[in-house]
Amino acid sequence: MRHNEILKQYFGYESFREGQEELVTSILSGRDTLGVMPTGAGKSVCYQVPALMTEGIAIVISPLISLMQDQVGALVQSGIRAAYINSSLTQNQLYAVIRNAEAGVYKIIYVAPERLDSEIFLNLARRIKISMITVDEAHCISQWGQDFRPSYLNIPKFAAELPERPVITAFTATATERVREDIIRLLELRDPFTLVTGFDRKNLYFEVRRPSDKAADLKRLITAYDKEGRSGIIYCSTRKTVEEVCERLARGGFPATRYHAGLSEEERRANQEDFIYDRKRIMVATNAFGMGIDKSNVTFVIHYNMPKDVESYYQEAGRAGRDGSPSDCILLYSGRDVVTGEFLINKSFEESELPPEIAEETRRRDLKRLRDMTFYCTCGDCLRGYILRYFGEKAPMECGCCSVCCSDSEEVDITVEAQKILSCIYRAGQRYGVKTICDILRGSESEKLSRSGLDRISTYGIMADTSEKRIRHIEERLENMGYVIRTEGEYPVLKLDNSALEVLRGNVTLKARIPEDAVKKKKETLVYERDPKLMDILKKLRQKKASIQSVPAYFIFTDASLADMCEKRPVTPEEFLNISGVGGAKLERYGADFIKAIKDYCEGNPTAAPTVSKASVNRMKTPVEREKAFAELEKGIGDFSPSEENVHITALISSIITAAGVNVSAANLRTVVYEWLISEGYLQICSDGDDGTRKGITPRSAEIGIFEEEVTASSGKKYTHVLYSTQAQRFIADNLGNIGRMAAHL
Ligand code: ADP
Ligand code: ZN
Repeated sequence: MRHNEILKQYFGYESFREGQEELVTSILSGRDTLGVMPTGAGKSVCYQVPALMTEGIAIVISPLISLMQDQVGALVQSGIRAAYINSSLTQNQLYAVIRNAEAGVYKIIYVAPERLDSEIFLNLARRIKISMITVDEAHCISQWGQDFRPSYLNIPKFAAELPERPVITAFTATATERVREDIIRLLELRDPFTLVTGFDRKNLYFEVRRPSDKAADLKRLITAYDKEGRSGIIYCSTRKTVEEVCERLARGGFPATRYHAGLSEEERRANQEDFIYDRKRIMVATNAFGMGIDKSNVTFVIHYNMPKDVESYYQEAGRAGRDGSPSDCILLYSGRDVVTGEFLINKSFEESELPPEIAEETRRRDLKRLRDMTFYCTCGDCLRGYILRYFGEKAPMECGCCSVCCSDSEEVDITVEAQKILSCIYRAGQRYGVKTICDILRGSESEKLSRSGLDRISTYGIMADTSEKRIRHIEERLENMGYVIRTEGEYPVLKLDNSALEVLRGNVTLKARIPEDAVKKKKETLVYERDPKLMDILKKLRQKKASIQSVPAYFIFTDASLADMCEKRPVTPEEFLNISGVGGAKLERYGADFIKAIKDYCEGNPTAAPTVSKASVNRMKTPVEREKAFAELEKGIGDFSPSEENVHITALISSIITAAGVNVSAANLRTVVYEWLISEGYLQICSDGDDGTRKGITPRSAEIGIFEEEVTASSGKKYTHVLYSTQAQRFIADNLGNIGRMAAHL
């Protein structure tokens, strides 16, 4: 089998994602390979596909037990023989794995780096054929990475002790040059093919909020997510905050659990499992939580506090949307977070055992990183763009999917306001913090100002009608632009950079996006358009399957796969294989039951097709492909003979497809046909009592032979079906060309 056939057969994916194919090809050619891809981009596939295609066993070195269990569990579900060796195995289990390995049962074995120098493992490794060594989370080898693991340094020694040095491949999400160099040098990679993919994660929506009351804001957010049954992580900067937030959520009736280094190992493990198995859908945690958590259905990550740097932020936020579903990454910012961040950096400086110059250098670097993180929250530019540029990538000015791009506020001229603020900082002697500057500008009558004579300087009260919030926003922009410098320390004061003179002289015009004081229009949360009832049925079935085997639900199918089923409604094994994430093994194990559930549902709800929307049609294909598909349909439709009976749309669509012998998705075709019938006035969307909307007939329906019929289901519930007579079937088939042209222009 070729590599893309393996991808489909075992993993159920139609095509490789960005970078995957190049990495797979390089590994297959026998060359050492380093892949740098953001979290969720799909690194595992890059070494798993070649592992299945080469003789022998691939050894995957992975830092965390939970990560290994997860990976192996998922592989086994996909029909791939894999095992792990780590300290969680009993002696007997260990020997069983070794026996199986010798008997050639596995294609992939995961091991903890600490195992590499154990005699038992070395003995095994020398006796079996090893197809490659893969180092997962390879940045752990570098002291410059966030999670240094000294035992990673043993990897080259291990490789050298094998009778034949296998290909070595390494994967990480850490982008910095320095870490990359460390990986290549310390792993002793030979002339490695290195590929760094784009860091953009298109399915993630980024947002920064500055709530005056974080607790209340969080509750609002969580209430909305919880209603949709979504699972997510809330990161807090301290253990204490984790405790408080978790406790508050639990009291509010939300399924929340917690994780931080202060809990016993037992509790951490139990809570993590509750989360992974969806018994508790919300995890409140410090940054101790997350490495190795591959839970694919996390659809929101909220930072209750600003993290210490953009690297950490992107890694933590990136745990959302791993299966490609649209997901939210929201940061609740407050100025206090910056103070806490500085405090923590200085504390670790004081406690540092490094030589003083190095400690001081580290401190400066960390403060710089913190400042860059703060700018993310305050700069008012496209958030995604900011992150990508931070990692050295080019990015457009607007991404269209972050709170800045989606907000209504426009770039406005802030030159005059900026001049007032700069002038005030200057006249007050560059000795005060932002609060005092605001007070002066707004003409506060506080005693502090009069005592220091600040109420007599010329800028006193010149922004009396501007809100403090707005002044602060503009001041922050001035910091971002480099005109104002905020000193470090417990009481930071504002000073002017030399460049500020240009602004004061009126030589430059400043523009910025300043959020309105009024509450911004809330963006609609991005979720798959799906049939919620069918989704619910499928989720329950998935849960049942998962419980029987005691595996997390997403091992069976990801949410993205279920959403795809709702959209395509597969009713044959071939159609089921078309679902993203369904390969041979999953078809065999679960196909029949899921198909049955979908069929049952369709029979009870023939008219409850997903609401027609432009988005779903547009997602189908590019206009050109769409028009081509319809042209083929039209060409092939000569053989179509309508049924003598009145049929449902589902039957009509599938007989059209069969007659034309063209490979198009039934659900997509149906959506387009619906859309056309509605636009021509032969159908309309009508509300269906408590059930949302459905398609219904119009006064014109009878002209072409479309009519309604009411049926009573065994439950006693009444449904209205729309039926298509022989005449209507013929009419629709004859108009496929017109339908296609309309679809192309949607
Ligand atoms: P990473 O290790 O890079 O964080 P994973 O390997 O865990 O990412 O993959 C993230 C998700 O993307 C998984 O659910 C995986 O099954 C899915 N995935 C990987 N490759 C593809 C692909 N070619 N098409 C669709 N989904 C994919
Ligand atoms: Zn944006």
